[in-house]
Amino acid sequence: MENKFYIYNTLTRKKEIFEPLHAPHVGLYVCGPTVYGDGHLGHARPAITFDVLYRYLLHLGYKVRYVRNITDVGHLEHDADEGEDKIAKKARLEKLEPMEVVQFYTLRYHKAMEKLNVLPPSIEPHASGHIIEQIEFVKKIIAAGYAYESEGSVYFDVEKYNKEFHYGKLSGRNINELLETTRELDGQTEKRRSTDFALWKKASPEHIMHWPSPWSEGFPGWHLECSAMGTKYLGEEFDIHGGGMDLMFPHHECEIAQSVAALGRETVKYWMHNNMITINGKKMGKSLGNFITLDEFFSGSHPLLEQAFSPMTIRFFILQAHYRSTVDFSNDALVASEKGLARLLDAYERLQKITPSSTTTVDIVGLREKCEVAMCDDLNTPIVISHLFDACKAINTITDKKGTISVEDLEELKAVFSLFVEDILGLQICTTDNNDDAYKKAVDLLLNLRLQAKQNKDWALSDKIRNELTALGFTIKDTKDGFEWNL
Ligand code: ZN
Repeated sequence: MENKFYIYNTLTRKKEIFEPLHAPHVGLYVCGPTVYGDGHLGHARPAITFDVLYRYLLHLGYKVRYVRNITDVGHLEHDADEGEDKIAKKARLEKLEPMEVVQFYTLRYHKAMEKLNVLPPSIEPHASGHIIEQIEFVKKIIAAGYAYESEGSVYFDVEKYNKEFHYGKLSGRNINELLETTRELDGQTEKRRSTDFALWKKASPEHIMHWPSPWSEGFPGWHLECSAMGTKYLGEEFDIHGGGMDLMFPHHECEIAQSVAALGRETVKYWMHNNMITINGKKMGKSLGNFITLDEFFSGSHPLLEQAFSPMTIRFFILQAHYRSTVDFSNDALVASEKGLARLLDAYERLQKITPSSTTTVDIVGLREKCEVAMCDDLNTPIVISHLFDACKAINTITDKKGTISVEDLEELKAVFSLFVEDILGLQICTTDNNDDAYKKAVDLLLNLRLQAKQNKDWALSDKIRNELTALGFTIKDTKDGFEWNL
């Protein structure tokens, strides 16, 4: 490896050279979605950010075990009306098995991820499938003296932990401040202090997702699943833990405390956090009416959207910002991204048709190296994209016959585009839904013209359309109502 790969470690607050614990193996854990989340835009950013990290690590030659969990129990959303588990609540109201709700959202999430060309992780563990591991983790924390049982629930003793270690080291929060701000939050009197967090919660009678444990029939606290599943699949010490910045506190802070308490050591070497997405300058939220789901973006069916945006436009838009910067979604910004992406992909397409000359007159020197340097600088995708745009200018010069390129340089340029556009940035060419839709409509249009031709007894035209489509690989069948086709 020629360039050192630098990543920003949230824990140390600086860029560090990435040195895996057990090269060439790399353990990567990313907090996945809570399944009841409606597959909204906020889900797209961590998924795409860590997808690019995963792709780049693979490109650097590492063998990556990528674990991205599905949170399907125990996550009480802060703005929840009465604090009931969202899956359990939906299941109770709609008379469904909780796992039916989980399955519905998981499949929907997978579909959205596929459209965004996000590679599936190596392992996608469900919290609900790791209750035993979570109970064992709680036992270790109790045995170490950092947790206490209270009325069937188990809480982490933050104050005791903080006397020996530093609770707040990741997020930089001050525990005294925390004691102030969380005092009146939940009215859970069974806790010794308001900063203590649940490791195990006794289930109330109407709570339908519960499991037996040494303490009560109940369910694990949300922060526990990532500690239990991360260490189960990646070991007690692993390389990278990622997630959205909103998870830094309390979720990741609690994860650190749980690991130190249970295992006597910190588990994660590098913490990475992507920044948040705002919509027209405002935070996303259901109550603000700007909560746009991915499906709504893809179909344009939200009052805030002036048109539909393809999954690749969304992906490109996210990658045009550095992952640690905020991204603000607006129609104008998305339209600009759509045009930028079209320009890039158009140049990539024209690149394939260029006839090489004996010499190169355009400037494409060092393109691969420049892109590598940008990626090695904490995944600087906007800089990679700007280098690719520079190369687009060179491609235009050649296709406008104002410049030439040699055989070797052409092959290199094609290879660099394929590597960075497709493999690393994960931008797909012509496979988006909008394109699929347009393509289907275009075939239908041709076959309808053929029907008209037949009605007009224009057999020559009718045969020409059928034969040429067949030559392209289409199967066309005449039916009573018209036609059927497939490729
Ligand atoms: Zn997590």
